[in-house]
Amino acid sequence: MQADVVVVGGGCVGASAAFHLAQLGAGRVVLVERGQVGGGPTGRTVGIVRLHYSHEPLVELARRSLERFVRFHELTGRSADFTRTGFLLLAPASELEGLAANVALQRRLGVRAEVLTPEEVARLDPRLSLEGVAGAAYEPDAGYADGYATAAGFAAAARELGVEVWEGVAAEEVQAAGGRVTGVQTSRGPVACSRVLVAAGVWTAGLLRPLGVDFPVVASREQVVQLAPPAQFGRLEVVLEDLSLGFYARPETGGTVLAGVLEEEPEEVVDPDRYNAGVDWAFVERVGSLWSKRYPSAAQAEFRGGYASIYDVTPDWQPVLGPVDGTDGLFVAAGFSGHGFKLSPALGEELARWVCGQSLSVDLRMFSLRRFSEGALLRGRHAKGLLG
Ligand SMILES: Cc1cc2nc3c(=O)[nH]c(=O)nc-3n(C[C@H](O)[C@H](O)[C@H](O)COP(=O)(O)OP(=O)(O)OC[C@H]3O[C@@H](n4cnc5c(N)ncnc54)[C@H](O)[C@@H]3O)c2cc1C
Repeated sequence: MQADVVVVGGGCVGASAAFHLAQLGAGRVVLVERGQVGGGPTGRTVGIVRLHYSHEPLVELARRSLERFVRFHELTGRSADFTRTGFLLLAPASELEGLAANVALQRRLGVRAEVLTPEEVARLDPRLSLEGVAGAAYEPDAGYADGYATAAGFAAAARELGVEVWEGVAAEEVQAAGGRVTGVQTSRGPVACSRVLVAAGVWTAGLLRPLGVDFPVVASREQVVQLAPPAQFGRLEVVLEDLSLGFYARPETGGTVLAGVLEEEPEEVVDPDRYNAGVDWAFVERVGSLWSKRYPSAAQAEFRGGYASIYDVTPDWQPVLGPVDGTDGLFVAAGFSGHGFKLSPALGEELARWVCGQSLSVDLRMFSLRRFSEGALLRGRHAKGLLG
């Protein structure tokens, strides 16, 4: 068959791109997902939607994406289950300068964000123990959303606009000749096309390798724990990321919280097709202890389960976006390093513009694959790359 564009990967990024390609009138668009749309890491995301970043294009994408999460129903006819809670980033003295610079950047771009003193943080949530906290960033408009609902919502809306969504179909090879994309060999047969967007998470590397393209990425197993604080604690009301202790927590249904760690290195490099998707008891104890330090009145939190999924981590914890040198018509959007969900609604539109040859409204050129071979790695203002 013949298509105009093939998108490989039905995570939040590929599904958003497919939807926006249809909106732009890109012609016959096929979204190829080897499993189920949203069934990969996207469906396991913690879904934190905050706007704190060091690089202007990421703040801008996060800001525009937040607007889309809020009006997701208007956009797609479905819900992304966005819940507004506010976002609190606790920092030790060593991180305060970077935090303040990021907040200044956000404010310049029209984001509601402020730097709080420990006293102001204590007023926001008096249950917090603020040992080791020199200050914080606070965003009242942030919150969390559902990864599966977001990808499935974009894919369903894309289908209504004419996109063919092929689930249970693998892209086996991206084909090129004379320096141009010619098609994609799939498990359902060949698709001839001149433009391909590979948004296949950590599996992107394997699809690009036969074309002689080196995509530096590792799969890092990342665990998430669900805790149920004691009844007298009440609910966690805010999304919390804690640079002092190195963990995060966000409210979950039934008064529980989802929590995990913030690391400077990948937690555990694994084979993305063969890893333990459960949670280790030592990890539960570690996260439980960090949680108890911050919320001593909830130290008796009960373990309610957990899971592991993978981050696709690049050398600088930043994604690779845009055209691939040497193969006209080949585009990539992968390597989100654990922070791609919150960017996906607006990013999909920029990717669609790129693929259609239109000018971008956010300058994303700094995220080219070329930066690795040129040694131009991106550095954020925080030690933990996950913060971007
Ligand atoms: C535990 C966890 C917590 C997270 N928390 C947050 C958070 O709080 N906030 C945030 O912003 N981000 C978070 N993230 C990161 C975020 O979820 C990811 O960056 C985002 O979901 C990546 O989406 P994606 O579309 O790039 O890739 P994926 O979700 O990896 O989707 C890629 C898809 O490609 C498909 N595929 C692969 N190979 C092929 C092939 N050959 N043919 C066809 N299909 C193929 C896969 O099946 C998969 O469905 C978290 C991630 C994890 C794992």
